[in-house]
Amino acid sequence: MDYLPVFLQLRSARAVIVGGGRIAARKVDLLVRAGASVTVVAPRLHEDLHSRIAAGELTHLAESFTPSHLDGAALAIAATGSGAVNAAVSAAARERNVPVNVVDDAALSTFIFPAIIDRSPIIVAVGSAGHAPVLARWVRERIESILPAGLGALARFMGERRKSVQRALGAAARRAFWERVVRGKAGARLLAGDEAGATRAFEAELLISQLTTSAATGDSALGEVYLIGAGPGDPDLLTLRALQLLQQADVVLYDRLVPQEVLERSRREARRIFVGKSVSRGAPPGEGGSQGATTAAHAGRGASQSALQEDIHELMIRFARQGLKVARLKGGDPFIFGRGGEEVEALARQGIPYLVVPGITAALGAAAGACIPLTQRGLAQSVTFVTGHLPQDDSLDWRTLARPGQTVVFYMGVGSLEQLVARLRAAGAPDTLPAALIERATLPEQRVLRGTLAQIADLAGRAGVSPPALLIVGEVAAHAAAAEPAATPAAGETAADLIQPI
Ligand code: SAH
Repeated sequence: MDYLPVFLQLRSARAVIVGGGRIAARKVDLLVRAGASVTVVAPRLHEDLHSRIAAGELTHLAESFTPSHLDGAALAIAATGSGAVNAAVSAAARERNVPVNVVDDAALSTFIFPAIIDRSPIIVAVGSAGHAPVLARWVRERIESILPAGLGALARFMGERRKSVQRALGAAARRAFWERVVRGKAGARLLAGDEAGATRAFEAELLISQLTTSAATGDSALGEVYLIGAGPGDPDLLTLRALQLLQQADVVLYDRLVPQEVLERSRREARRIFVGKSVSRGAPPGEGGSQGATTAAHAGRGASQSALQEDIHELMIRFARQGLKVARLKGGDPFIFGRGGEEVEALARQGIPYLVVPGITAALGAAAGACIPLTQRGLAQSVTFVTGHLPQDDSLDWRTLARPGQTVVFYMGVGSLEQLVARLRAAGAPDTLPAALIERATLPEQRVLRGTLAQIADLAGRAGVSPPALLIVGEVAAHAAAAEPAATPAAGETAADLIQPI
């Protein structure tokens, strides 16, 4: 280890920055945030620093540097453009045992600044000992992307309750209790911005910990369900919250539309159970859940869809009652043609706590994947998402859907493409109206077929398009044809691959 990472308490400590440029201004910002009493020694100042002087946040000495400027300093930074001045600051600081950083010069510095993630009071610092600052920043970005935005709020929430937990629980139980807060319902609620829910979950957890003798290891009585939108297929299109909750879940109930790559983002130990509404894959009801494999268990026994939907409700409720955290992973968004509403109602009826995490719905994934703007000035003033599941759901107003100046996206329409097209044409949509069919949008096998309304069913038949696919109808479907996006990088390929060897 070339450097020892430490966190300095600088409240009201004298910090001296020599130099008044843009880089000095950035350091001033950090030091002010840390509560230091900042003095800037520089003949001239960057404009950002003028406002800080006006705000009383720093003292400015419009002088050339002399070693006595560092008398009584807790920290020194040299950020001038002059090598000689920087060296003089470094020498004077060392003489006085004042820690010094010379910007971009590790040899003259006794400490260096890390790349920081600030979710105060949680702070993450990443360093590369001056070897590869760009790599350190990349590491910071990676970490940043997995840390929930509400982390600071959670830390404060826990800090505020430390004392009362100390009073309520013995030392042995406390650690396990806090673990359950971080990994359990209270933490999940708080990170989702639901402070009232977090407080309720926290209090229930505390009560249970106090009541149970096995508080150090026991789980609380009631679990909860996370209704998570898995997006259109590409695992990189999961939301951060979806990832976080998938990492906490004990059980994952997933649909047919959720690909293996998405499933793999869930906690390794989680039990994964297939509850899709098509082909039964054999295992007994509610069992199976093989870990991490492609094998899957079918939750249902009955052939009818409604019986199966009820089976899903029953499974979620049963697992939650066992105190487990259940991730109900649904393709796209749970509330768009996903029966998420029914699942939420079933949970609410039974008093099971739940959270809904939105996902990127297939229409948005397909539009981006095929580079079709769903609205566009002059071409489409509105966009409508419609079920193409005919004829059962055919209460649609076809005349409205056939009007110009809009985009209509049909979900679940592959099996009834010809009927969809026929109804649109009969309701007045022109034969020449552009249409696009996007199969397996955002997945590596994505295919985009473009044509006119009159052609599209025939094109689809010849290309052998199969579900899942979406039909987009409207001028925009042709408009973007010239602007097909560059191939998206294969899943998992990132800038990291370009930074080798490390
Ligand atoms: N809740 C989902 C929709 C479920 S309905 C969502 O918000 O996306 C299932 C239909 O969604 C499929 O028949 C298909 O029309 C569409 N769909 C889902 N994923 C898709 C994908 N990757 N590519 C194209 N269409 C998709």
